[in-house]
Amino acid sequence: MSFTSKLPAVGTTIFSQMSQLAAQQQAINLSQGFPDFAASDVLISKLAHYASQGFNQYAPMPGILPLREQIAALLQHCYGRSVCPQQEVTVTSGATEALLVAISAVVNAGDEVIIFDPAYDSYAPAIALNGGKAVHIALTAPDYRVDWQQVAQAITARTKLIIVNSPHNPSGMVFSQQDWQALQSLVVKYHLYCISDEVYEHMVFDGAAKLSANRFAELAQRSFIVSSFGKTFHVTGWKLGYCVAPAALSDEFRKIHQYVTFSSFTPAQYALADMLAQHSEQVHRLAAFYQQKRDSFSTLLANSRFRLLPCQGTYFQLADYSAISDLDDVAFCRWLTIEHKVAAIPLSVFYQTAPDSRIIRFCFAKQPATLNAAAEVLCQL
Ligand code: PMP
Ligand code: GLN
Repeated sequence: MSFTSKLPAVGTTIFSQMSQLAAQQQAINLSQGFPDFAASDVLISKLAHYASQGFNQYAPMPGILPLREQIAALLQHCYGRSVCPQQEVTVTSGATEALLVAISAVVNAGDEVIIFDPAYDSYAPAIALNGGKAVHIALTAPDYRVDWQQVAQAITARTKLIIVNSPHNPSGMVFSQQDWQALQSLVVKYHLYCISDEVYEHMVFDGAAKLSANRFAELAQRSFIVSSFGKTFHVTGWKLGYCVAPAALSDEFRKIHQYVTFSSFTPAQYALADMLAQHSEQVHRLAAFYQQKRDSFSTLLANSRFRLLPCQGTYFQLADYSAISDLDDVAFCRWLTIEHKVAAIPLSVFYQTAPDSRIIRFCFAKQPATLNAAAEVLCQL
């Protein structure tokens, strides 16, 4: 049977491929981004509590109100923004769902959407599914900064949306105040919409202020701001996230969300609402927690032949391996996994047109023993 794919260029994601190869090879998995340590006992016992107490039927379509209220309180605390939990906050099945739904809410056939490469892998397919055209702007090593002049030049009469991701996966780049202001100016001037993917919002290092589209009022008025509890509470497998957007945008978002999943995993929503109400310090400690991991991983690799790139946020570390091998990054990652039993992610797969560089991504959201064992191997290459 012949079948015309809507996504002819799309295969299995690099995250599935590398995690599968790592498992097959019994390699240390620093590829796909997920912690290898447990979430807090309190959170796990709250999930068990709510599941055993019968909180197992459909949650309200936009999420349980106590969780939306806690999200609103968190935004107030972190960014001084006041949002309406009833109208402007929607709980989703992970940030992935929120991104697809927000893109679907905005993008019509023929619309152009600006994205920055290396781009998180779900953006371009979600744009394509809606008949839109992704306009890729490449960011490059070592610091992956956006040239806002270049962005202004890429805007056409068809540009509808710009998708940003700060702290940025995979580069670890974090937007400055000037970046946010430049973005806001363009969005306002050209009447664009913005999706701000902030799943690593609580992981910014070296004392940098936590910035967010939430802090820029005119930008926030035209933005869908997306975050993930998977990242914040070390529970990527729970697939719970949320989208914050002004009421008119949230209304459209919910029209689609209600037919994608209708609602998200109920007992976890109650557990997370309690965590935010009673243990929000866990969120506020996240930056220090991961900064320590970034620093210890970089100390462990100091005597290796990898050259580490700057990492201002996220739980990813880019490394240039050109002193070790001439292989391209996809081949290098396979070689590293199969021959040396450490898995990483090649950078080129996040580009439409990859620069000629030898850079891979390691995830350092791992226990000290895992990072030590990986570093021992990596230092011998
Ligand atoms: N955006 C970025 C930049 C990510 O790294 C991830 C990764 N996990 C997601 C979105 C998706 O988050 P979730 O697991 O909550 O769907
Ligand atoms: N966000 C994770 C990463 O960047 C992967 C999520 C996924 O596998 N879809 O590694």
